[in-house]
Amino acid sequence: MYRIGNGYDIHQLTEGRDLIIGGVKITHEKGLLGHSDADVLIHAIIDSLLGALALDDIGTLFPDTDPKYKGADSTVLLKHVYSLIKSNGYEIANLDSNIIAQKPKMMPYIPKMKEILCKILGINFDQLSIKAKTKEKMDAVGQGLAIEANSVVLLKKI
Ligand SMILES: [Zn+2]
Repeated sequence: MYRIGNGYDIHQLTEGRDLIIGGVKITHEKGLLGHSDADVLIHAIIDSLLGALALDDIGTLFPDTDPKYKGADSTVLLKHVYSLIKSNGYEIANLDSNIIAQKPKMMPYIPKMKEILCKILGINFDQLSIKAKTKEKMDAVGQGLAIEANSVVLLKKI
């Protein structure tokens, strides 16, 4: 028995915030704005996991009105969500994701992101894909105002 899920997220880039994507702190003059650490990739991954089992979305599970999640480390949220998936009797077959950012370059950070995320999810490198794209200077992402991410995950019954 397989279930597929897709997740999407976008956060605005702003001064005075750390840029954290895929659990990795990235050197950049701006960071992503959000109630939590605004880790756009992990948020997209979380929504794909929840979507695959038709569970509540990330905003319902971790409301941005709840002070408990202010500045929350998204890797902790991901751990919680994956334990939920496993308690429902599923595990990841494979996960494919994109980070869409005009700058900075994501490529140098992807190996570290994969290391962190594979460890949390208990999967191998060949089960996790993280790709980096730009928006060819078009729209808000292309103008460096925001960063987007999306994720597709296939879950299989344990
Ligand atoms: Zn988010």
